[in-house]
Amino acid sequence: MVIAVYPGSFDPATYGHLDIIQRASVSFDQVIVGVLHNSAKSPLFSVEERVNILEKATKDIPNVKIKPFDGLSVNFARENRAQVIVRGLRAVTDFEYELQMAQTNRVLAPDVDTVFLTTSLEYAYLSSTIMKEVARYRGDLSKFAPPEIVEAVRAKLY
Ligand code: ADP
Repeated sequence: MVIAVYPGSFDPATYGHLDIIQRASVSFDQVIVGVLHNSAKSPLFSVEERVNILEKATKDIPNVKIKPFDGLSVNFARENRAQVIVRGLRAVTDFEYELQMAQTNRVLAPDVDTVFLTTSLEYAYLSSTIMKEVARYRGDLSKFAPPEIVEAVRAKLY
């Protein structure tokens, strides 16, 4: 049984995140999405809201679970008996940071491996930050996230 954790801020989840979750659910027996409680980043949505949003958006994928977490991804992986950390790679700009993180995590926990899934082309440009930026100027969010998430962003900002 191979368990993967997929850690991130998910503030809020986008089609890019949901695509990675869906694809990871095919390759791993169980995918546990870890929603980082990171007060330093002052997120738009509370950790409970972000967990709730992801639970609704992934309700049809039986081997996906959403959990809040705090601290190191490798500790979250170990607590959940996961052998793998999944991360998404968009462009070369992600690569340097992600490589450093993966190498650091390997030093901290040699028993946990990082697996990168490359973004689907149609979501290569997409991030939670970009979605929030467009939302602030009341742009159309329908290409960025499912209707329930778009609604949650609107309710939060308008
Ligand atoms: P973090 O603060 O950890 O970067 P994010 O919520 O921004 O958290 O992203 C979580 C993970 O999802 C990261 O591995 C990121 O590269 C990946 N990701 C974000 N957006 C996309 C996308 N559009 N396509 C593929 N992967 C993505």
